[in-house]
Amino acid sequence: MMEIEGKDRVDWSHTAEQLLRHWQRSGVTHLPVPQTPLPESIASWPKLQTSSTVPAAAPSSTSPKPSVAEPAVPQADLASTLDHLPKQSLVLDSVLADSTWSLSDLSENGRAEALKALNEEVVACRKCTDIACRRTQTVFGIGPLRPKLVMFGEAPGAEEDRAGEPFVGPAGQLLDRILVASGLARDQVYIMNTLKCRPPNNRTPTDIEMENCRPFFERQLDILQPEYIVCWGAVAARAILKTSDSIGRLRGRFHTYKQAKVMITYHPAYLLRTPEAKRLTWEDMKMLMRELGIPIRSTGTQS
Ligand code: SF4
Repeated sequence: MMEIEGKDRVDWSHTAEQLLRHWQRSGVTHLPVPQTPLPESIASWPKLQTSSTVPAAAPSSTSPKPSVAEPAVPQADLASTLDHLPKQSLVLDSVLADSTWSLSDLSENGRAEALKALNEEVVACRKCTDIACRRTQTVFGIGPLRPKLVMFGEAPGAEEDRAGEPFVGPAGQLLDRILVASGLARDQVYIMNTLKCRPPNNRTPTDIEMENCRPFFERQLDILQPEYIVCWGAVAARAILKTSDSIGRLRGRFHTYKQAKVMITYHPAYLLRTPEAKRLTWEDMKMLMRELGIPIRSTGTQS
């Protein structure tokens, strides 16, 4: 609060938020902001991969391809400017804001048992006939029983289908690097996908398949009750927020799913094919780090 001429008090953060909301309502979506350093470990990876193993023009068979066409990379997102405002100003969209977790908060033993029972249902599931007959195994999810963060992806790729664990191919390795650069370790977060089975040839999950699998991922989240969900890619965003908006429109601010804050950013497989988008995902991760109170190193050389 600032005092003007001794009597008029002005809440500048409120004024700034009002101004930004006015710009958004007026259709202004981008403002020039200075570029921020990208950690070397993310910018340069994958260093040793050859063009035959790194998804470039064509998607790798081991990396799920974001199914909805990703938008052109903007110079700077107006919404990212909002992260300079106080934390409570970040939650601008309240998709499903009135919903709450449908389960009571379970003990760790209760969570383990509930997840085990849910996984048994997933293993037995054959709802998506085109997928179920070709999968090697289902890919349920992995991580701590009481996670603060859930990393939410699209669907297993070939390596995930073989290993039974999400995000273990090249895209998963880039995810690990992004997490480390953000002060997080893979084993600190829970990792799961929208679909529990690999679509043939890594094709985009259909709407019917996503709805078939919805009861599984929704119950999984109800058991885990994370504080934050990071949606990697358009399919994950669509599944959680039930919106067809592009990532370019959704990223840069927090949304809400039940009692969790939701951040949207680009899928690591897309970042492998489109390295210039890494900077935007790094801006998103910094927004998350500020929210979590994780210090951001200014050198841009976290590894
Ligand atoms: S993707 Fe989900 S709903 Fe479809 S068969 Fe696999 S577990 Fe069942």
